[in-house]
This record gives sequence, structure tokens and C-alpha cells, in this order.
Amino acid sequence: MLNLDKMQTILNKIKENDKIFIFRHFRPDGDAVGSSKGLAAILKLTYPEKKIYLQNADFSGYLSFLGGEDEILPDEEYADALGIVVDTATQDRISNKKYSLCRELIKIDHHIPIESYAPTEWVEEERSSTCEMIAHFYDTFRHELKIDVEAATYIYTGMVTDSGRFRFRDVSGETLRLAGTILSVGVDTDTLFAHLYLKEFDELKFEAYVHKKMKITEGGVAYIYVDNKMKEQFGLSDETAGNVVSLMDSIKGSIIWLAFIENKDGSTRVRLRSRFVTVSELANKYHGGGHACASGATVYSRKEMNQLIKDADSLIKEYKANNDGWM
Ligand code: AMP
Repeated sequence: MLNLDKMQTILNKIKENDKIFIFRHFRPDGDAVGSSKGLAAILKLTYPEKKIYLQNADFSGYLSFLGGEDEILPDEEYADALGIVVDTATQDRISNKKYSLCRELIKIDHHIPIESYAPTEWVEEERSSTCEMIAHFYDTFRHELKIDVEAATYIYTGMVTDSGRFRFRDVSGETLRLAGTILSVGVDTDTLFAHLYLKEFDELKFEAYVHKKMKITEGGVAYIYVDNKMKEQFGLSDETAGNVVSLMDSIKGSIIWLAFIENKDGSTRVRLRSRFVTVSELANKYHGGGHACASGATVYSRKEMNQLIKDADSLIKEYKANNDGWM
């Protein structure tokens, strides 16, 4: 089925249903929050008579400037609702497990499709963000759908953050055209970028510490381990600790970089990033997944962590031996 047909099917289902619940993945990023809130805002504006609720079980402190979400409703409220899950490749990553109580489910996502979990699925893995898909959905049906500055701000947030401020490889001419459409609604980018990118003084001190502590393998895998003690020492939340991955993104010759962040339960979250070389298969091997150049995983021991670093090192070496043009 063509994607236009899928989008039309989704619009028809939205029109047919009076109650719509919108879900996204746990530990939400800008794209998960932006696409769920952006879609909800467009639908609320267009269909004020419908009951549209954001039904999620966890939140992101650094995105709280985008406002809150709805209280989780009792189980019996789900039975006659259409559920739309955005930006979530697999069921186990859906924030609110009650999604399965919905009468019908739709998935809208841009991740590599590992698993099918809804009868109606619109997945475009070449899109730079799910927000780009929501922008495309709005643009395709703009004769019918309404948008305002609030909805546009949510959508633009996801487009900016998931594309690394429009720098990543999956940014296309279409991404920028759609971003232009959304921006023209009147997004206040000064305020948005201030919320997203200004740092506390202590955060910069922590960055200096990370730059001092990070290591690099023979092949060029840069990595750092942030344990709970370090989090305490610098007053880091799990979220801010996770951001260390981006501090290693501009090292020449280091085309894979990894952040290991100790979880409270003793397991370790891994954030994998790369240029040119694909890391999603490596993430799959360590209980994770994601995109070609941005994936997530979990390791459960030092041994497993060291093995992952070794595997990444082999991956780089093999890539460098067989490819030119990397930097
Ligand atoms: P993160 O480093 O957590 O921001 O993850 C990077 C990308 O990989 C995001 O698009 C996540 O949705 C995806 N991802 C992270 N962890 C997992 C996982 N355990 N399974 C599948 N995808 C994941």
C-alpha cells in the first residue's frame, strides 16, 4: 500500500473515532514528545468535539517547557478508544502499557521496523524524525487539518532535535521544505533554542571533566562510563548524564562513540553513535536497537561492556579497512 493510502486510512480512522489516545516511547526525547503533542494539538484544533488524550506514564524534565500531558485514565476508558502510538518501534518501549486495551491501534514511526504491533502501521524509516512525518501528514491534508503556533512548536522541536539541528544524514530537501512549512506558522526559535540548548555553568564544568576522562580504543572508538558516583558528584539526572554521548561527537577518526550510563538497578544504559558506519546491529546484539547511526542498548556487567567496546573496535577497523572517505 502506498504511504498516501496509509495516511488517508489513518485520517479516516481519526475522523471515525470520537475518542483518541496518543502514546509514545518511555524516556521520551524531543521527537517522542513533539510528535505526540503535535499530533494531539492538530487533532484538538481540527476536531474540538473529539476527546483527544495524551496517555503516557513517564516524562522528560528537560522538555517540561513544552507543557504537561493528560492524567492516565481508568482502564475502562480505553475500550472504545482509537490508540495512536508515535515514534516507537517496539511494544516493550511504549511508555504506557495500557495501550493494548484500546479498541484499535495505529503506529506512526520512523525507526527501523523491528516488530509489527498494530493493524495499521505507517513507517518511513528514511524520515529524519516522526515529527517530520506529522508535518507531512499535516501538509498532505492541510485543506482539512488545522495548525497553530503551539502545535508547530511541538513539531519543530522534534524535527530540530532528532536531526541534530538538521545536520544528520537522513535530512533531505523534503525535511527542510516541511520544516519551512512548520516554521512559517510562527515558531519562536529564539525561545525554543534557549530552552533546548542553554547550559548551566556546572554542566560546562562537567563537560570539561568528561573530555578529560574519555578514552579511545586503537581503532578509534571513543567512550566514557558515567557511574552513579559521578552522577552524584556533579548532581546529574539520568537524562543529563546521558547527554555525555554528544560530547564525543567531533573527534577525527572516531567514527563510533559510546556513552555508558549506570542505571540505579546496576545495569548500564548504552548510547551508541556513529558516522558512516552502522551501529544498530551492534545495539541489537546487546539488548537494544535503533537507527543506523544512533542506537541504544543495555549491558549487565563490566564484562559485557568491555565486549561491546571490543566489538565496536572491530567494526571500526573492518570499516576503515574496506572504505575510504571517512574522517
Ligand atoms: P538513545 O541513545 O537512547 O537516544 O537511543 C537512540 C535511538 O535508538 C533512539 O531512536 C531510540 O529510540 C533507539 N533505542 C534506544 N534504545 C533502544 C532499545 N533498547 N531498543 C530499540 N531501540 C532503541
